[in-house]
Amino acid sequence: MSPAPSKDPTAVEHEVRQKIHLEILKRTGAYHSNDHILLPSGQHTAEYIEKTLVTTEPSFTEGLGAVIAKHFAPWPVDVVLSTGPGALILSHCVARAHPSRPVVVYGTKGLSGGKRRVTLPVEFQRLIRAGTRVLLIEDLVSTGTTLNLLISLVEQFGAQVVGIGCLWQRTSVELDDRPVFSLVSRDFPAYAPADCPYCRRGVPLNEEFVRRRAHRRPSSVQESRSS
Ligand SMILES: [Zn+2]
Repeated sequence: MSPAPSKDPTAVEHEVRQKIHLEILKRTGAYHSNDHILLPSGQHTAEYIEKTLVTTEPSFTEGLGAVIAKHFAPWPVDVVLSTGPGALILSHCVARAHPSRPVVVYGTKGLSGGKRRVTLPVEFQRLIRAGTRVLLIEDLVSTGTTLNLLISLVEQFGAQVVGIGCLWQRTSVELDDRPVFSLVSRDFPAYAPADCPYCRRGVPLNEEFVRRRAHRRPSSVQESRSS
């Protein structure tokens, strides 16, 4: 199928770029598509992304970080703020490629009285002050809660959020009209088993991701007491 001639060329370009980025994420093993996947929630979907795998290929992460840095290159940035240790590798790659040569810091996530909260390690607090220009970096934005909390924190210090860069953004996320640049903007439709079109077509269900959570191989070792 060829695209309709009236289609906006920038939209086409965006679509092509998104496909390239998805292909890169697929090559890291993080992105799965054209499947029939059981989610931990019990719902079924055709697509899945494994967050912990997205930055395992250094050259890919550098390339993707450079794309985000290039987008924000016209704006001076003093600090790249990673939403947490998980997005730090990507944040490093963005900062390394940004012409302002910003420093890189990260927030920490936690719970307080059952509510999510973010803090900035005390050592970083002198780096974000009144007038500091901050670029926020996240790997996958699924709800936007952490980002919205970090924006409030940055603004509480009197600093300014220049923009938000991420690898993947669920299109349903609201970030108060902030300048967001995402390499992929996409939602996975998820279905209750009773409404699932793949079940109806008899596609075999892939339970790998749920099973993997339930039956982990021993993944930690402990210091032995005897010496
Ligand atoms: Zn199904």
